[in-house]
Amino acid sequence: MNNPLAVGETVPGGRAMLLVSLALVAVLALAGRSVAGLPVEDARASRLIDADHFELRIKIPETVAELESRREELRQKFLLTNGLWPMPAKCELNPVIFDEKQGDGFRVAKVYFESLPGYYVTGNLYRPATGDGPFPAIVCPHGHWTYGRLTNGETGSIPGRCIDLAKMGFVVISIDMVGFNDNFQLPHDHQKSRAQMKADKPLPYEPRKFRGVFDFPRARLYGLSLAGLHVWNMIRSVDFLTSLPEVDDERIGATGASGGASQTLFLMAAEPRLKVAAPVNIIGAAKHPGCRCENAPGCWVDISTVEIAGIFAPKPLILLSATEDPWTNSFPTREMPIIKRYYELYGAADKVKNVHIEGVHNYNAASRAAVYQWFAEQLKSPRPAIRDVRSPFPGLAALGDLRVFPDKILPEQAKNGLEVIDDWIAASERELQARWPKNRAQLDLFCEEFGGNLRRLLQVEVPRADKVIIEKLDSQVLGGIIHESMAVGRDGAGERFSLELVSSSPAPKGTLVLVRPEWRGGMFQPDGGGFKPALKNLAVRDYRVIRIGGFASGELRIPRKTWETFSWPEAYNRSNRLEAIQDILTALVAVRKQWPDQPIILAGMSESGLPVAFAGAVFGRCEQVFVDLHRTDPGYDGELLELLPVGSLKRVGDFRTAMLMLMRNRVSLFNASPTFDGQWYRDQAARLGLLENIDFRLDEKLNWLNGQL
Ligand SMILES: [Zn+2]
Repeated sequence: MNNPLAVGETVPGGRAMLLVSLALVAVLALAGRSVAGLPVEDARASRLIDADHFELRIKIPETVAELESRREELRQKFLLTNGLWPMPAKCELNPVIFDEKQGDGFRVAKVYFESLPGYYVTGNLYRPATGDGPFPAIVCPHGHWTYGRLTNGETGSIPGRCIDLAKMGFVVISIDMVGFNDNFQLPHDHQKSRAQMKADKPLPYEPRKFRGVFDFPRARLYGLSLAGLHVWNMIRSVDFLTSLPEVDDERIGATGASGGASQTLFLMAAEPRLKVAAPVNIIGAAKHPGCRCENAPGCWVDISTVEIAGIFAPKPLILLSATEDPWTNSFPTREMPIIKRYYELYGAADKVKNVHIEGVHNYNAASRAAVYQWFAEQLKSPRPAIRDVRSPFPGLAALGDLRVFPDKILPEQAKNGLEVIDDWIAASERELQARWPKNRAQLDLFCEEFGGNLRRLLQVEVPRADKVIIEKLDSQVLGGIIHESMAVGRDGAGERFSLELVSSSPAPKGTLVLVRPEWRGGMFQPDGGGFKPALKNLAVRDYRVIRIGGFASGELRIPRKTWETFSWPEAYNRSNRLEAIQDILTALVAVRKQWPDQPIILAGMSESGLPVAFAGAVFGRCEQVFVDLHRTDPGYDGELLELLPVGSLKRVGDFRTAMLMLMRNRVSLFNASPTFDGQWYRDQAARLGLLENIDFRLDEKLNWLNGQL
């Protein structure tokens, strides 16, 4: 019973309601339940999820305070995983609005502006035919339709939607997704960009055009991903709308279907200025959006589209679903009751509405009509909702070509895709340079802010002591040395991993927590052969010694083949390395729980050194941390990608931040690659007056035989 709300299975019609009700009861029961035992087996390697194998794990808040604290945490995590913390500098938009045409009751212009220096958001600006406003405004992102924002068909007409809204008195921006239509400085992804190029007319040779793939592993380290760029472009679209004199900044809405609904959700999570939202056909407890542009690394670990909808409360939200839509077919009975509970906490059940349409995945005429009505009421449109909704929308040809750069020639100051990526990386490092602490007081603030965000990115926690379960399994005395084995895990987390303890002293003065890879074997020799001599050596020195198994040692692991059968697994799951860091943290809490007043020394040998450095940094209460870098250089991106490929890690300072956190106590670093820039760390320590806390022996291996520990 580790999964409080397993509503992942699709159930037909009437049974769905029952399932959800039972699930809600389970969540309530969970909140008050006492500490249970550990599971028989660790479940983490066997419960991976992705967009198509999604399983809703949600704890519905019971008070407004709980909801609001979760909202803040979720927003922070969302910004982080999408590369938007620290928030990039907002460059001048330098908007260009041109070639405006008059229609019947509306105007439509072409528009582009810079969301990053030399990088353009492109689209159309639809406005009421006359008047100075103030008008409410809507951001309209599109989904993965073949013709992007220019799609005009039965299941969806994006120009039709924008025209109708403009006729109702809204200012509307309809923007291209990355790699669609006029947005071609970076491709959407490898295959799609090619298809897109083919679908379009033959391209002239254009040196400013990026050719290749995007969403590179290295760019991801710096937080630049296809998904994150979409979030950023959406935020900048709000900046653009609010820069227009005729727009009322207090009445901003967003709507889109499918991928456009995902972007609407992103904006709901990231942008407090958004007041009303209408995501269409994407929110589902059993299925998540599946494109790379909707799955930033780490973005959906313990977060779901359902929860993002919930924490939008009490702002007005309409949710469109459809009977034959794979994401939302059971929405009224499965997802809606959950989301409604968030609104009920505010007494605002009337501010959330579901309209379930007969049909396939769509933003068709019926869906549009419902959204118009909602926007008219909630954003107080100058004119009433349009009721005669047509899809496809007639007469679009009269507006001519709505593309912004139909000949694929960009403005002179445009950068090519590689320059955009390089600029982003350089700006990210500049931002960090400005933030490194200059004195002790700044160090504490830095550790709180950057350290907290490092923890969020690593998807780990320092669990409360009462959440950590310790099961003692076996105890024996051999040759005057006590040997105990235990199993440990966090309550309700499906965890069970091993701890081994050896101690020879009747009254140890502290604990040495040892993390070493499984291939080096346990502490206790099999076949009754007694203790390893090295261990004996350690255990006689007044410290009890604890060795962590689990993911930390590699005893538990998600097989690579399993990991790779999932799509964007890092968006939904903790990797082996992240689970390793969590296990070390859980073990440290277990140790502290048993011997609360005694010092802890933490040591990571061979490839366990790096996870130990991060866990020790997050824990923050070890007297000393020993780190063997195993001949690696975590300062080199190529190597960091192999050691700890966590999106946005560079934005929060990666290993450098971990080391600054560790320097507050004692830290010893061993066995680095010759390229490792130890001087940078020494300079920081000197500046902070902490040189005596660091001990670098970069040419030596950390070895428990030679007295280093
Ligand atoms: Zn996409």
